[in-house]
Amino acid sequence: MSFRTLHDHGVIARYREFLPVTEATPVISLNEGSTPLIHSPKLSARVGRDCEVFIKYEGLNPTGSFKDRGMTLALSKAVERGAQAVICASTGNTSAAAAAYAARASITCIVLLPAGKIAFGKLAQAFMYGAKVVAIEGNFDDALRLVREIGETEPIAVVNSINPDRLEGQKTASFEIIEELGEAPDVHILPVGNAGNISAYWLGYQEFHALKRSSRMPVMLGFQAAGSAPIFHKRVIEKPETIATAIRIGNPASWDKANAAIAHSGGAVDIVTDEEILAAQVWLASHEGIFVEPASAASIAGLFKSLDPASGRAYDAALFPEGAKIVCTVTGHGLKDPDVAKDKCGGVIPAKAERGEILRLIGA
Ligand SMILES: *Cc1c(COP(=O)(O)O)cnc(C)c1O
Repeated sequence: MSFRTLHDHGVIARYREFLPVTEATPVISLNEGSTPLIHSPKLSARVGRDCEVFIKYEGLNPTGSFKDRGMTLALSKAVERGAQAVICASTGNTSAAAAAYAARASITCIVLLPAGKIAFGKLAQAFMYGAKVVAIEGNFDDALRLVREIGETEPIAVVNSINPDRLEGQKTASFEIIEELGEAPDVHILPVGNAGNISAYWLGYQEFHALKRSSRMPVMLGFQAAGSAPIFHKRVIEKPETIATAIRIGNPASWDKANAAIAHSGGAVDIVTDEEILAAQVWLASHEGIFVEPASAASIAGLFKSLDPASGRAYDAALFPEGAKIVCTVTGHGLKDPDVAKDKCGGVIPAKAERGEILRLIGA
């Protein structure tokens, strides 16, 4: 393998011609992207009518979430512009990604978190990657407001998804899906928090369609947690609540872009309850072997809701035509948020270290 091939990984290397980089841009990469698109026979069977469901498993990115796709670009551009430090507000995954790519670039990373509202795995990441972590008395939306203010007056680059480089990097997930399926899917389902990702996917689908690399564009279906659903309710939610911390957002930064994507694609934003999210999380892990964090399971919960005529869903079931290809993005890895699995782990079976007893207990 040549030197060049060895280093030819990551979304900037793979999609350089579609990204705002030049020869002068230093590439800060951890070989992110190129995540698996996993066919799900069991979800396909549940949808029926020859539909096929695929899971885009973004938890397999280097820091365990899709945020790495945007962060490779945001950090590369920040370093190109001479930044010595980056800052972000985060519900956890943005800070994990920012901290890792800042470490890679040898610059400082400052993270503003809402105190007490971060999954432990994500906090551990920010610390291990060497970020300065500040926990504010306030929610994510307060943290983002402060980050915007600091970015205006200080020589510190903001790497939240209000930074357009983030969305440019994240759109590469659509490119990968089109290349793998040979066509865009009919329907794309994903969780929505700050709404950067749904906007980025739409950007990617539009771009490849314009270049005739796909002949159609998917219907975009976004799912918010019922207690944090500003786009669905069309108003800011002052105190967003949900177990799915990555989408606990009351005032999405990319609200307008998301509305445009939904309207343009003929899609919708709907809600799923925490109970539905947790049930979908357990279902996906125990039926397909894919362990995702709660926010990620919102897309699977959303798919289930779409199949239930009694669910009072906010869109038409005709969105899934016969033989439709449906992609669900699962955004982050389950190991980031082990606390939610704790109740389940209470079910261990105690036994003596003795063959006979074990065989009796497992019913063999
Ligand atoms: C950031 C994040 C989301 C929400 O993405 P937005 O771009 O904010 O809509 C969903 N799931 C996970 C795991 C995330 O990290």
